[in-house]
Amino acid sequence: MNCDIIAVGSELLTPYRQDTNSLYLTAQLNQLGVRLSAKTIVGDRREHLVSAVRHALERADIVIVMGGLGPTEDDLTREAVAEALGLRLRRNQEIVAALYARFAARRIQITDNNTKQGDVLEGAEPLANSAGTAPGQWLDTVYGDHRKLVVLMPGPPSELKPMFTEQVLPRLREAIPRRHFASRTLKVAMMGESACDQRIAPIYTRYTDVETTILAHLGDIQLNLIATKPTLEQAQERVDALAGAIEEELDDFVYSANGEPLERIVLNHLELVGATLAVAESCTGGLIAQRLTGIHGSSRSFLGGAVVYSNALKTLFADVPPEMIASEGAVSRDVAAALATGIRNRVGSTLGVGVTGIAGPGGGSDEKPVGLVYIAVSDGTETEVLEKHFAGDRDRIRQYAAQQALDLVRRTLMTRR
Ligand code: AMP
Ligand code: MG
Repeated sequence: MNCDIIAVGSELLTPYRQDTNSLYLTAQLNQLGVRLSAKTIVGDRREHLVSAVRHALERADIVIVMGGLGPTEDDLTREAVAEALGLRLRRNQEIVAALYARFAARRIQITDNNTKQGDVLEGAEPLANSAGTAPGQWLDTVYGDHRKLVVLMPGPPSELKPMFTEQVLPRLREAIPRRHFASRTLKVAMMGESACDQRIAPIYTRYTDVETTILAHLGDIQLNLIATKPTLEQAQERVDALAGAIEEELDDFVYSANGEPLERIVLNHLELVGATLAVAESCTGGLIAQRLTGIHGSSRSFLGGAVVYSNALKTLFADVPPEMIASEGAVSRDVAAALATGIRNRVGSTLGVGVTGIAGPGGGSDEKPVGLVYIAVSDGTETEVLEKHFAGDRDRIRQYAAQQALDLVRRTLMTRR
């Protein structure tokens, strides 16, 4: 089953208020195995509300509309939902009486507009509001030959939350078949989003019962797989089957089958083979070290390193010969390799990483354009150097370089195992 949420209120279309209710509701609905098809934020305009409700009814089994249930002119939710569904509103005298009693108890004169809070959609059940005046509504109806559950709730979170748990949740549990979710996150390094999709789309499109989403960010692709089934085992089985098929296709581009970040995977590999790592970073300025040290326990295999930004420090901390820098340039294959071997020898680590490149925006030339980065990994006997041309601004180039360096370490360790 899927659900559309509509948040009503012109204040939610300003920079000062956020629709936080839908986040709360989404978490609650997911636990019931209900997925969100869309959420909409609409101002207090009747015709906009009517069309939003109609759109929602067309795509979702459950439509939750919240806000706009108060007594004032701009509270139009009841009227708009009635119009969208082609239903009449009936004034519920019990609700009106309760409103009168509530006001009387507080010695306040009730105003006429309050009584419209007693208007209930034909066939709907009013939902008690334990924290305010506006009741909600529950409607189990048919729209265009399909069964639809329509729920109206007040906007203030302090009223919506208790109404949801006390009134809506038990009714939803009753009304919808029990479903279970399973999800997996596969992570892929240094592959283009479209290249990745081209290879896996023929696979995941066959799994029509698993929802696959692709999120790409700076040389890192996250594949989220989600299945909803009557039992957790069934859901898990489908997700695992698709994950397995994707892993087979993408092979060692998949660095994690459970959503861990690349730096954690690198550290796991290091520990597994009992290896240590040190880095000499120029254009990445410590990004690699930062990512590795962001992981708890990284000190077991990451020794540290140096930010060798100037030519002098490349020599001072990583023993790069000044003549090499003079003849090849600081951004060169040879210097990257010398940084990797130099830092490795200096600190006595199993592996050494060297990174040097032109992050821009200035400093590029025809021969060595902005985005050119050399990344080296040395294990003492062999030194592998990659030449990369990254596109984008300074930040992007640096992030890509760090990602590539970590991935090269991962691949180096995989071949050693
Ligand atoms: P209403 O039910 O339209 O009278 O809503 C009254 C107040 O509830 C608004 O002024 C907001 O402060 C709050 N509110 C309404 N909708 C939301 C929402 N979707 N998320 C968070 N707060 C909301
Ligand atoms: Mg409002």
